[in-house]
Amino acid sequence: MMFNPTQLRKDFPILDQSINGHPLVYLDSAATSQKPQSVLHVLRRYYEMDNANVHRGVHTLGSRATEAYERAREKVADFIQADRPEEIIFTRGTTESINMVAYGWARLRLQQGDEIVLTPAEHHSNLVPWQQVARVTGAKLVYLTLLPDGNLDLDEVRSKLSDRTKIVAIQHVSNVLGTIHPIKEIGAMAHQVGALMVVDGAQSVPHMPVDVQDLDCDFLAFSGHKMCGPTGIGVLYGKKEWLDEMEPTYFGGEMIDLVELEQSTWKETPWKFEGGTPIIAGAVGLGAAIDYLQQVGMEDIHQHDSQLAQYAMEQLSKMEGLEIYGPAPGSQRAGLVTFNLKGVHPHDVSTVLDSEGIAIRAGHHCAQPLMRWLHQAATARASFYLYNTKADIDALVSGLESAKEFFA
Ligand code: PLP
Repeated sequence: MMFNPTQLRKDFPILDQSINGHPLVYLDSAATSQKPQSVLHVLRRYYEMDNANVHRGVHTLGSRATEAYERAREKVADFIQADRPEEIIFTRGTTESINMVAYGWARLRLQQGDEIVLTPAEHHSNLVPWQQVARVTGAKLVYLTLLPDGNLDLDEVRSKLSDRTKIVAIQHVSNVLGTIHPIKEIGAMAHQVGALMVVDGAQSVPHMPVDVQDLDCDFLAFSGHKMCGPTGIGVLYGKKEWLDEMEPTYFGGEMIDLVELEQSTWKETPWKFEGGTPIIAGAVGLGAAIDYLQQVGMEDIHQHDSQLAQYAMEQLSKMEGLEIYGPAPGSQRAGLVTFNLKGVHPHDVSTVLDSEGIAIRAGHHCAQPLMRWLHQAATARASFYLYNTKADIDALVSGLESAKEFFA
């Protein structure tokens, strides 16, 4: 089937509405994506037909719910080419996934003198947990230097790694600059010095084929809500050998093997990480989202999002008074563009655009150190997904012209 965003758009009921008298133009998928009818249908059907608690009841609904939940784990494993489903832990999202590695692995192993390597472009979710690890263990945070367009220089990366490096934690794709980092190469360097590679895949897994075996990363975190799935479900992938060594974060029902009055033992990986009633419907919904994305084709989605970003760069760079951040037009860039209209606060730009039905993001994008690096308090961001078209970008350009006139 040919990739056709105009056709795909019809799968997303929310997009078929007017906002402030204008057809909705949704350009905020990096914050959260919209959900296709098939995912909504599966969620509804799950609650109407199969809902029960998992891994407990011996009744039919309990078996169906357990089967659906574990089937979703298999789909996720298949989607990112994990070696086996046991390497997939269901979490609430990227933030929780990274915290689990920070608390269950790094906090218990790192010590004074060890180093954690990060970029200054990290989302707070892949920065603050490591600050906490450094605070309690005495480990040091080491920051890579960003090139002027936000990319990394591999020689500089190499020079910052040493036998003191224990963790390298880097975003695959920047949610602000749209840079795509060479995770595979950086991971190989990390392994050479005996460090683990933790990848924040929040902006890559929804938009491009990601193969954890090819990347050879040790951990990968991502969120279901950014990839056509429901909110409240996410994934931590980890190599089995590390997950077996890692401590659970939540203790209680579901995750235990044997409980005695003084002590307890845990289930195997990954169930020892899923304390309490898990996010069953969320996982089932994520499974349906993966079915949808695979049917559309991840390679096509990647091409489409990148082409839209290039088109947006071409159009926006023609506009006077607009400052664009990240890779230059024509350079590799994921499906988003971050910019500022000189002299106008991005919140005001966003408000004018909203009055024309156009939804973009304005603020610090949970990347305050990166905002400081850009010498900006905040920026505006338009981000694209499989349901966006060039017409959406034309609407953005025309909305920005209105904003310019309004604030002139
Ligand atoms: N990392 C990146 C690069 C992101 O863009 C986001 C969300 O915007 C996150 C982490 C956090 O994701 P969540 O809020 O779903 O945990």
